[in-house]
Parts: sequence; structure tokens; C-alpha cells
Amino acid sequence: MPKIYITRPIPVSAVRLLEETFGKDAVRMWPEDTIIPRQKLLQNVAGVDAILAILTERIDDELFDAAGPQLRIVANMAVGFDNIDVPAATRRRIPVSNTPGVLTETTADLTWALILATCRRLGESERFLRSGQWKCWSPTFMLGTDVHGKKLGIFGLGRIGQAVARRARAFGMDVMYYDPTRYEFPREAAMGVRYVEFDELLRESDILTVHCFLSPETRHAFGEAQFCAMKKSAVFINTARGPIVDEPALARALKNGDIFAAGLDVFEEEPKVHPELLACENAVLLPHIGSATEETRAKMAEMAARNIIQRLHGEVPVNCLNPEIL
Ligand code: NAP
Repeated sequence: MPKIYITRPIPVSAVRLLEETFGKDAVRMWPEDTIIPRQKLLQNVAGVDAILAILTERIDDELFDAAGPQLRIVANMAVGFDNIDVPAATRRRIPVSNTPGVLTETTADLTWALILATCRRLGESERFLRSGQWKCWSPTFMLGTDVHGKKLGIFGLGRIGQAVARRARAFGMDVMYYDPTRYEFPREAAMGVRYVEFDELLRESDILTVHCFLSPETRHAFGEAQFCAMKKSAVFINTARGPIVDEPALARALKNGDIFAAGLDVFEEEPKVHPELLACENAVLLPHIGSATEETRAKMAEMAARNIIQRLHGEVPVNCLNPEIL
């Protein structure tokens, strides 16, 4: 009987899937909805065949050493895998999998919620009303910026970037993108997007939304120089990963009026949020809830579980990130 360790309570349908396949005793799970202390994690993975991890766990050489040579897969319950040292796993011939696709639409929905909330100052407005300050309608009160008909800039036109672009059509927007890979013209036309270089994306976007993955190239891709290059009326959105943005530089840009507002679902050192960002009324800040719906979290957990089942049955996991080792 294989041993499977789950690092945090996940939707029950996925746990059931693993238990029905391998038996109840095969599956152990950290029972508390808190980050498992590192030492406990290292102890609890000793001797396991598979780990179902979430993005708060650092999966690296230290953890592989603690698990032991029988470890046959790490299945991450996220599409992003910047918490995993994939080259280290590859050196040890341990497959790593993620959960692409199933969270695309849900994360695009949340991105749009942030675009609208930020442009129309929903956070500020609600705080104002709840604090009892609203006394009367005013022609000049809480003026935001229109979304429809504006120029939307997408940084990273992958699965989520494209889903965001599809929604932009309904708002009659001019959609531009920057990505290291440019699509062929017929594909761009079908998606209703046009390619621009990064500096033009910065200069031209009314709303700029980030959808690349975190990598050495994208870390701090947005800093002081980039915010200064944007329109003073621009709105900046990040639902990808916090370290893509230099947070102190963003806080300064918001404070100095270099850009109009920002909407963020992700932060450099989660769950810490830079105190100057917390002080910015023109920032809408969410606690990393991009994929947080009942339906999508169940699909993500089930996908991670299925990757484990495939691997332990001797198949190549369908979402394997390093299939060359198998
Ligand atoms: P994806 O399909 O892999 O898209 C990422 C895109 O970024 C690709 O088109 C990629 O281009 C592009 N890219 C790579 N390097 C770039 C660079 N230097 N500059 C600009 N673009 C670059 O991934 P996805 O499924 O859309 O997910 C994107 C990211 O969103 C994930 O990695 C994750 O970090 C984040 N995410 C967050 C949440 C949340 O809860 N907030 C939820 C889901 C996902 P190439 O293909 O040419 O490399």
C-alpha cells in the first residue's frame, strides 16, 4: 500500500478519490487549516510515496531528503509552482505536477472583479458607507474611471491572460498584450488582441493586468521605472504572483499619483502586506483568492489527486512539469 501525505485539508472529493483508490490507511493529512510547521512537515513526509502540496509549502532538496528515495511524485494544488524547486526534483527524478486550466476562468473572473472594483473605487466606497460618512448624493463624489472602451494591457497572454481578454470584448476594449511568445496574426485576430512591446504596453495601457508566471525574468518586472512610464490615470492589476512587483515602488507610485490605482490579489511576502500599501486608499487588496470558489478548488484538488493516482499506477501524470525524466 503506498503512502500519500496531504499538507493541508483539501476538498473532500479529492481525499475520497485517493482513499477509494489506495485505501483509507494510505492517506494522511495535516489536520489543521494552518501552515504546517516546517519541522512537522519534514517529519511527516518521511517514507511517503506521494505528496499533495499547496503553494505555502517550500518543496526543495531539504524536503526531498526528509521524504527519502521512495518519493515518486509531488502534486502541487496550484497552476503556479514557484514554491517548488523543479530542477532539484528533476535531478532526483521526482515528477512534479500542477493544476493548469481548471482555475483559468475563475481567476479571470476575479481579475475582472478587481478591475471593476479598482476603477470604480468599490473598496473605498464601501468603507465610506459602512463608517456612516455617507450623507448625500454628490456630483463630484467618489469619481472613478471608466472601464468600457478603454485600452487594456495584458502582460503574459497565457491561459488566464486570454480568459481576461475574452471578457474585455464585452466591455468594448482595445486589448494589447506583451508576451515573449508572439502569436500568429490569425490567432491574434481571433482573440481580438494586438501585440505591443513592453514599453508600449506601459505607455498606452489604461488598465494593465499581470498574468505571467513568476520566474527570474519576471521577478520585479514592475518597479519604479515601469510605474513612472505608465499614464498617471492608469490602473495596475496583479493576480499572478506578488514578487513580480516591487511593492515599495508600487506603494510610492500610488502615493505620489504616478498611477491612479492598483488592485492586488497577491503579495511579495504573503500573508504580509507592505504597510504603505495598506495605507493607500487607492489600492484594492485581496488575500490571494483568485481561484477560491467551491467548484474550482474541488477541481484543483481532484486534478492533483489524479496526478498522484496516475504516477502510482505507473503512468505519466497528465500535468507533469518534468516528463522528460519518465
Ligand atoms: P500560463 O498559461 O503559463 O501563462 C503565463 C504566460 O506568461 C505565458 O503566456 C508566458 O509566455 C508568459 N510569460 C512568460 N514569461 C514572461 C515574461 N517575461 N513577460 C511576459 N509574459 C511572460 O499560466 P496561467 O495558467 O495563465 O497562470 C498564470 C499565473 O497566474 C500562474 O503562474 C500563477 O502564478 C498565477 N495564478 C494566480 C492565481 C491566484 O489565485 N491569484 C490563480 C491562478 C494562477 P510563454 O508561454 O511564452 O512562456
